[in-house]
Amino acid sequence: MRDLDAELHELRARIDRAARVCVLSGAGMSAESGIPTFRDALTGLWSRFDPAQLASEEGFRADPRLVWDWYAQRREGVRAAQPNAGHLALGAFAQRRPGVLTVVTQNVDDLHQRAGNADAIRLHGDILADRWLQPCRCRPRRDPGEAEPGRPPRCPGCGALVRPGVVWFGEMLPEGAMEAAERAARAAELMLVVGTSGAVWPAAGLAGTARRAGAFVAIVNPHDSEIDASAQLLLPGTAAQILPRLFA
Ligand code: NAD
Repeated sequence: MRDLDAELHELRARIDRAARVCVLSGAGMSAESGIPTFRDALTGLWSRFDPAQLASEEGFRADPRLVWDWYAQRREGVRAAQPNAGHLALGAFAQRRPGVLTVVTQNVDDLHQRAGNADAIRLHGDILADRWLQPCRCRPRRDPGEAEPGRPPRCPGCGALVRPGVVWFGEMLPEGAMEAAERAARAAELMLVVGTSGAVWPAAGLAGTARRAGAFVAIVNPHDSEIDASAQLLLPGTAAQILPRLFA
Protein backbone atom coordinates (compact mmCIF):
# COMPACT_ATOMS: atom_id res chain seq x y z
CA MET A 1 0.00 0.00 0.00
CA ARG A 2 1.19 3.45 -0.85
CA ASP A 3 2.11 5.68 2.09
CA LEU A 4 1.38 9.19 0.81
CA ASP A 5 2.23 10.78 4.18
CA ALA A 6 5.71 9.27 4.10
CA GLU A 7 6.22 10.38 0.47
CA LEU A 8 5.17 13.92 1.32
CA HIS A 9 7.47 13.91 4.32
CA GLU A 10 10.40 12.80 2.17
CA LEU A 11 9.63 15.38 -0.53
CA ARG A 12 9.40 18.09 2.08
CA ALA A 13 12.86 17.13 3.32
CA ARG A 14 14.18 17.38 -0.26
CA ILE A 15 12.65 20.86 -0.56
CA ASP A 16 14.20 21.91 2.74
CA ARG A 17 17.64 20.78 1.51
CA ALA A 18 17.39 22.22 -2.01
CA ALA A 19 19.18 25.41 -2.97
CA ARG A 20 16.95 25.86 -6.04
CA VAL A 21 13.33 24.81 -6.42
CA CYS A 22 11.15 25.48 -9.46
CA VAL A 23 7.35 25.24 -9.47
CA LEU A 24 5.60 25.03 -12.82
CA SER A 25 1.90 25.79 -12.40
CA GLY A 26 -1.12 25.53 -14.65
CA ALA A 27 -4.82 26.26 -14.50
CA GLY A 28 -5.43 23.59 -11.80
CA MET A 29 -3.37 25.73 -9.41
CA SER A 30 -6.16 28.31 -9.34
CA ALA A 31 -9.12 25.92 -9.57
CA GLU A 32 -9.67 25.98 -5.80
CA SER A 33 -9.75 29.79 -5.96
CA GLY A 34 -12.80 29.41 -8.17
CA ILE A 35 -11.09 30.19 -11.48
CA PRO A 36 -12.15 27.56 -13.99
CA THR A 37 -9.54 25.57 -15.90
CA PHE A 38 -9.55 26.07 -19.65
CA ARG A 39 -11.89 23.19 -20.27
CA ASP A 40 -14.20 24.23 -17.43
CA ALA A 41 -14.34 27.82 -18.73
CA LEU A 42 -15.93 26.48 -21.89
CA THR A 43 -19.02 25.09 -20.21
CA GLY A 44 -22.49 26.62 -19.92
CA LEU A 45 -23.05 29.62 -22.14
CA TRP A 46 -19.70 29.16 -23.79
CA SER A 47 -19.86 25.44 -24.49
CA ARG A 48 -20.86 25.96 -28.12
CA PHE A 49 -17.63 27.85 -28.86
CA ASP A 50 -14.44 26.34 -30.03
CA PRO A 51 -11.34 27.32 -27.97
CA ALA A 52 -9.63 28.55 -31.14
CA GLN A 53 -12.47 31.02 -31.67
CA LEU A 54 -12.06 32.51 -28.20
CA ALA A 55 -8.28 32.28 -27.93
CA SER A 56 -6.83 33.28 -31.27
CA GLU A 57 -6.24 36.51 -33.16
CA GLU A 58 -8.27 35.12 -36.02
CA GLY A 59 -11.24 34.47 -33.72
CA PHE A 60 -10.94 37.96 -32.21
CA ARG A 61 -10.85 39.61 -35.63
CA ALA A 62 -13.88 37.60 -36.72
CA ASP A 63 -15.97 38.66 -33.71
CA PRO A 64 -14.15 41.14 -31.44
CA ARG A 65 -17.14 41.80 -29.19
CA LEU A 66 -17.81 38.13 -28.49
CA VAL A 67 -14.18 37.43 -27.60
CA TRP A 68 -13.85 40.66 -25.57
CA ASP A 69 -16.97 39.74 -23.58
CA TRP A 70 -15.63 36.26 -22.82
CA TYR A 71 -12.43 37.78 -21.45
CA ALA A 72 -14.36 40.51 -19.60
CA GLN A 73 -16.27 37.78 -17.78
CA ARG A 74 -13.05 35.90 -16.98
CA ARG A 75 -11.42 39.13 -15.77
CA GLU A 76 -14.26 39.66 -13.33
CA GLY A 77 -13.72 36.13 -12.03
CA VAL A 78 -9.99 36.75 -11.55
CA ARG A 79 -10.56 40.07 -9.74
CA ALA A 80 -13.07 38.44 -7.41
CA ALA A 81 -10.85 35.42 -6.66
CA GLN A 82 -8.44 35.08 -3.74
CA PRO A 83 -5.19 33.09 -3.62
CA ASN A 84 -5.82 29.61 -2.19
CA ALA A 85 -3.79 27.72 0.42
CA GLY A 86 -1.45 26.47 -2.34
CA HIS A 87 -0.58 29.96 -3.62
CA LEU A 88 -0.17 31.18 -0.04
CA ALA A 89 2.17 28.34 0.92
CA LEU A 90 4.44 29.17 -2.04
CA GLY A 91 4.33 32.87 -1.18
CA ALA A 92 5.24 32.21 2.46
CA PHE A 93 8.10 29.91 1.40
CA ALA A 94 9.51 32.62 -0.89
CA GLN A 95 9.54 35.07 2.04
CA ARG A 96 11.13 32.54 4.38
CA ARG A 97 13.82 31.33 1.98
CA PRO A 98 14.47 34.19 -0.46
CA GLY A 99 16.19 33.26 -3.72
CA VAL A 100 15.35 29.53 -3.55
CA LEU A 101 12.00 29.32 -5.34
CA THR A 102 11.18 30.30 -8.92
CA VAL A 103 7.53 30.05 -9.87
CA VAL A 104 6.87 29.61 -13.58
CA THR A 105 3.20 29.83 -14.42
CA GLN A 106 1.03 29.24 -17.43
CA ASN A 107 -1.73 31.07 -15.61
CA VAL A 108 -2.89 34.45 -16.75
CA ASP A 109 -4.39 35.37 -13.38
CA ASP A 110 -2.41 37.27 -10.73
CA LEU A 111 -2.89 34.94 -7.76
CA HIS A 112 0.78 33.90 -7.40
CA GLN A 113 1.74 37.57 -7.40
CA ARG A 114 -0.92 38.49 -4.84
CA ALA A 115 0.21 35.59 -2.63
CA GLY A 116 3.79 36.88 -2.43
CA ASN A 117 5.56 35.54 -5.54
CA ALA A 118 5.83 38.93 -7.20
CA ASP A 119 8.41 37.76 -9.71
CA ALA A 120 6.63 34.63 -10.90
CA ILE A 121 7.47 34.11 -14.59
CA ARG A 122 4.30 34.37 -16.66
CA LEU A 123 4.56 32.33 -19.81
CA HIS A 124 1.12 33.12 -21.17
CA GLY A 125 0.68 36.80 -20.31
CA ASP A 126 -1.68 38.69 -18.03
CA ILE A 127 -5.43 38.61 -18.49
CA LEU A 128 -5.86 41.92 -16.63
CA ALA A 129 -3.54 43.81 -19.01
CA ASP A 130 -4.70 45.54 -22.19
CA ARG A 131 -2.72 45.87 -25.37
CA TRP A 132 -3.35 46.98 -28.93
CA LEU A 133 -4.29 44.29 -31.43
CA GLN A 134 -2.07 46.00 -33.98
CA PRO A 135 0.22 49.00 -33.36
CA CYS A 136 -1.87 52.13 -33.04
CA ARG A 137 -0.95 54.64 -35.75
CA CYS A 138 -1.93 57.71 -33.72
CA ARG A 139 1.24 58.73 -31.95
CA PRO A 140 1.57 59.48 -29.09
CA ARG A 141 -1.46 57.33 -28.29
CA ARG A 142 0.58 54.20 -27.67
CA ASP A 143 -1.09 53.26 -24.44
CA PRO A 144 -4.45 51.50 -24.68
CA GLY A 145 -5.29 53.49 -21.55
CA GLU A 146 -6.22 56.27 -23.98
CA ALA A 147 -8.59 54.11 -25.96
CA GLU A 148 -12.25 54.97 -26.21
CA PRO A 149 -14.29 52.70 -23.96
CA GLY A 150 -16.24 50.05 -25.83
CA ARG A 151 -16.52 46.31 -26.34
CA PRO A 152 -13.66 46.18 -27.19
CA PRO A 153 -12.28 49.68 -26.65
CA ARG A 154 -10.64 51.22 -29.72
CA CYS A 155 -8.38 54.12 -30.64
CA PRO A 156 -10.58 57.12 -31.47
CA GLY A 157 -8.13 58.15 -34.23
CA CYS A 158 -7.23 55.07 -36.24
CA GLY A 159 -9.72 52.55 -34.88
CA ALA A 160 -7.01 50.15 -33.58
CA LEU A 161 -8.63 47.59 -31.29
CA VAL A 162 -7.65 46.76 -27.72
CA ARG A 163 -7.24 43.07 -26.83
CA PRO A 164 -6.40 41.25 -23.61
CA GLY A 165 -2.69 40.74 -22.86
CA VAL A 166 -2.76 36.94 -23.00
CA VAL A 167 -0.93 34.63 -25.39
CA TRP A 168 -3.31 33.17 -27.93
CA PHE A 169 -2.91 30.01 -30.00
CA GLY A 170 -0.10 30.39 -32.50
CA GLU A 171 1.47 33.44 -30.81
CA MET A 172 4.96 33.97 -29.44
CA LEU A 173 5.46 33.89 -25.68
CA PRO A 174 6.36 37.20 -23.97
CA GLU A 175 9.94 38.13 -24.75
CA GLY A 176 12.47 36.44 -22.48
CA ALA A 177 9.87 34.48 -20.49
CA MET A 178 10.65 31.03 -21.89
CA GLU A 179 14.40 31.62 -21.64
CA ALA A 180 14.06 32.61 -17.98
CA ALA A 181 11.83 29.58 -17.35
CA GLU A 182 14.35 27.24 -18.99
CA ARG A 183 17.16 28.68 -16.89
CA ALA A 184 15.10 28.08 -13.74
CA ALA A 185 14.25 24.52 -14.86
CA ARG A 186 17.89 23.68 -15.55
CA ALA A 187 19.10 25.20 -12.28
CA ALA A 188 16.49 23.45 -10.12
CA GLU A 189 17.37 20.51 -7.90
CA LEU A 190 13.68 19.91 -7.57
CA MET A 191 10.78 20.73 -9.88
CA LEU A 192 7.19 20.54 -8.78
CA VAL A 193 4.58 20.60 -11.53
CA VAL A 194 1.15 21.66 -10.24
CA GLY A 195 -2.22 21.60 -11.96
CA THR A 196 -1.28 21.35 -15.60
CA SER A 197 -2.54 18.90 -18.20
CA GLY A 198 0.85 19.10 -19.93
CA ALA A 199 -0.88 19.64 -23.25
CA VAL A 200 0.37 23.16 -23.98
CA TRP A 201 3.86 23.52 -25.40
CA PRO A 202 6.55 24.73 -24.96
CA ALA A 203 5.59 25.06 -21.26
CA ALA A 204 4.98 21.32 -20.95
CA GLY A 205 8.57 20.63 -22.00
CA LEU A 206 9.98 22.32 -18.87
CA ALA A 207 9.44 19.20 -16.73
CA GLY A 208 11.61 17.18 -19.13
CA THR A 209 14.20 19.97 -19.25
CA ALA A 210 14.50 19.91 -15.45
CA ARG A 211 14.65 16.11 -15.33
CA ARG A 212 17.40 15.90 -17.99
CA ALA A 213 19.39 18.51 -16.09
CA GLY A 214 19.29 16.28 -13.01
CA ALA A 215 16.31 17.60 -11.04
CA PHE A 216 13.92 15.45 -9.06
CA VAL A 217 10.51 16.03 -10.68
CA ALA A 218 7.20 15.60 -8.84
CA ILE A 219 3.68 16.27 -10.15
CA VAL A 220 0.68 17.39 -8.07
CA ASN A 221 -2.54 16.67 -9.91
CA PRO A 222 -5.70 14.76 -8.97
CA HIS A 223 -5.72 13.29 -12.51
CA ASP A 224 -3.21 11.94 -15.02
CA SER A 225 -1.33 14.43 -17.14
CA GLU A 226 0.45 14.13 -20.48
CA ILE A 227 3.84 14.66 -18.83
CA ASP A 228 3.58 12.09 -16.05
CA ALA A 229 6.45 10.13 -17.62
CA SER A 230 8.81 13.05 -16.86
CA ALA A 231 8.27 12.69 -13.12
CA GLN A 232 9.76 10.41 -10.48
CA LEU A 233 6.81 11.06 -8.15
CA LEU A 234 3.09 11.57 -8.84
CA LEU A 235 1.11 13.08 -5.98
CA PRO A 236 -2.62 12.54 -6.49
CA GLY A 237 -4.18 15.54 -4.80
CA THR A 238 -4.99 19.18 -5.25
CA ALA A 239 -2.80 22.26 -5.03
CA ALA A 240 -4.50 23.56 -1.88
CA GLN A 241 -4.25 20.16 -0.16
CA ILE A 242 -0.68 19.23 -1.05
CA LEU A 243 1.35 22.46 -1.28
CA PRO A 244 0.83 23.59 2.34
CA ARG A 245 2.19 20.20 3.45
CA LEU A 246 5.33 20.73 1.37
CA PHE A 247 6.03 24.45 1.68
CA ALA A 248 4.20 25.98 4.66
P1 NAD B 1 -5.62 22.68 -18.30
O1 NAD B 1 -6.97 23.33 -18.09
O2 NAD B 1 -5.31 22.07 -19.60
O3 NAD B 1 -5.45 21.53 -17.20
C1 NAD B 1 -5.72 21.74 -15.84
C2 NAD B 1 -5.06 20.62 -15.05
O4 NAD B 1 -5.24 20.89 -13.68
C3 NAD B 1 -5.69 19.24 -15.31
O5 NAD B 1 -4.64 18.30 -15.51
C4 NAD B 1 -6.44 18.94 -14.02
O6 NAD B 1 -6.44 17.56 -13.72
C5 NAD B 1 -5.64 19.71 -13.00
N1 NAD B 1 -6.37 20.15 -11.83
C6 NAD B 1 -7.68 20.47 -11.74
N2 NAD B 1 -7.96 20.89 -10.50
C7 NAD B 1 -6.81 20.85 -9.78
C8 NAD B 1 -6.44 21.19 -8.46
N3 NAD B 1 -7.34 21.67 -7.60
N4 NAD B 1 -5.15 21.04 -8.07
C9 NAD B 1 -4.21 20.56 -8.94
N5 NAD B 1 -4.51 20.22 -10.21
C10 NAD B 1 -5.78 20.37 -10.63
O7 NAD B 1 -4.57 23.76 -17.82
P2 NAD B 1 -3.10 24.11 -18.35
O8 NAD B 1 -2.32 22.86 -18.45
O9 NAD B 1 -2.64 25.22 -17.49
O10 NAD B 1 -3.32 24.65 -19.84
C11 NAD B 1 -4.41 25.48 -20.20
C12 NAD B 1 -4.06 26.87 -20.73
O11 NAD B 1 -5.15 27.71 -20.35
C13 NAD B 1 -2.83 27.51 -20.15
O12 NAD B 1 -2.13 28.03 -21.21
C14 NAD B 1 -3.32 28.68 -19.27
O13 NAD B 1 -2.65 29.89 -19.63
C15 NAD B 1 -4.75 28.89 -19.66
N6 NAD B 1 -5.64 29.10 -18.49
C16 NAD B 1 -5.25 29.86 -17.41
C17 NAD B 1 -6.11 30.01 -16.32
C18 NAD B 1 -5.66 30.85 -15.15
O14 NAD B 1 -4.90 31.80 -15.35
N7 NAD B 1 -6.08 30.54 -13.91
C19 NAD B 1 -7.35 29.39 -16.30
C20 NAD B 1 -7.72 28.64 -17.43
C21 NAD B 1 -6.86 28.51 -18.51
